[in-house]
Amino acid sequence: TPHPAPDPRVGAAVKAADRAHVFHSWSAQALIDPPAVAGAEGAYFWDHDGNRYLDFTSGLVFTNIGYQHPKVVAAIQEQAARLATFAPGFAVDVRGEAARLIAERTPGDLDKVFFTNGGAEAVENAVRMARLHTGRHKVLSAYRSYHGATSTAIHLTGDPRRWPSDTGAAGVVHFWGPFPYRSPFHSENEAQECERALTHLEDTLVFEGPDTVAAIVLETVPGTAGIMPPPPGYLRGVRELCDRYGIVLVLDEVMAGFGRTGRWFAAEHHDVVPDLLTFAKGVNSGYVPLGGVAISAEIAATFDRRPYPGGLTYSGHPLACAAAVATIRVMAEEHVVEAADRLGAEILGPGLRELAERHPSVGEVRGLGAFWALELVRNRETREPLVPYGATGGANAPMAAFTAACRERGLWPFVNMNRTHVVPACNLTDAEAKEGLAALDAALSVADEHTV
Ligand code: PLP
Repeated sequence: TPHPAPDPRVGAAVKAADRAHVFHSWSAQALIDPPAVAGAEGAYFWDHDGNRYLDFTSGLVFTNIGYQHPKVVAAIQEQAARLATFAPGFAVDVRGEAARLIAERTPGDLDKVFFTNGGAEAVENAVRMARLHTGRHKVLSAYRSYHGATSTAIHLTGDPRRWPSDTGAAGVVHFWGPFPYRSPFHSENEAQECERALTHLEDTLVFEGPDTVAAIVLETVPGTAGIMPPPPGYLRGVRELCDRYGIVLVLDEVMAGFGRTGRWFAAEHHDVVPDLLTFAKGVNSGYVPLGGVAISAEIAATFDRRPYPGGLTYSGHPLACAAAVATIRVMAEEHVVEAADRLGAEILGPGLRELAERHPSVGEVRGLGAFWALELVRNRETREPLVPYGATGGANAPMAAFTAACRERGLWPFVNMNRTHVVPACNLTDAEAKEGLAALDAALSVADEHTV
């Protein structure tokens, strides 16, 4: 099907309907003016005003294979023609095939899959499974984390954005994870940060009462909060604490999973197998909403003769599962996971570090695969952020100028507080990556003007 040609008059109508009737997430409704999307393909999208953008956000970090992959679009169309919907509770071919393909790729014995419609529901259900499995109620999660915007998921999220909607939940306890660049433990190096973070976590457990703790929930690589790959040894240390105290380890790979870090799952980098693993986004590149929990044999057995008290009308929806089957096959056939690994190691990593050398506004570059963050600072020595935490309006002007400069050069950047995340499609070509790096180079010169 050809894309409709960009047309400013159509764009105006699309914008008018949006403005009148769509209530947008995480936004002050009167202060946003989103572009009217006309089409998207691969790593690009374009609007009705004639602008074409290289998407360095992958939507919300979900189009791991890019937009409109013909094989995935065809699979969704075929499934719609054959069996567009069917309730959970029946054995449906495409649901079983999606679960099998996922289970084959998750680490260890995470061989059963509970399907949800997205990431937050996956986290909700992982916590429920952990509580029922252990008979305990408390759950620990990290500050500087994002786990979704539903009830338990928003309580677990350790990000200031949750404050207005977070009433605080009984049984949720936050701890600090490692973050060498802004160390909560005032560590001098990564090894010390790792050791201190593990000591802090064990102290937290001891003071909470380990036998009241059902689960530790953490992102394998915290994403939304700043893309912070954990120091070597940290996740193994957390795994050991969980084993010692009989606690369920939930790794949230909603963002880091399905190729983003150059592995099918980021846990592989650390040789750690969680008891529950949550996923969404990249599982089918977001073509149809889908998420889920991959479950260990031991936890699955808890519900062999006892019903699992939870479910969703659209759990394992055939269209979403067809998209997952096609996406996973495309990723395998086209070596998308390996492509992300190489993209990070050979193009994005070296390219971003080279930008950091020339631009005083870049405080730190960190990441791997197709999963990078630049921490923008006013002062490299003191690491003072380019804009204060939570800045809006005039206080946010330097980041707004950076964002505008990217867009003027045809790059759609991911911007969060004082950071820009570089999270393009995992199968970005070298030429596309270089085009994006050149636009970032120019936009960072604008950010540099705000350094001292
Ligand atoms: N967990 C992580 C690690 C995420 O990054 C996200 C979304 O960004 C979620 C959970 C929530 O997923 P969803 O927005 O699909 O509910």
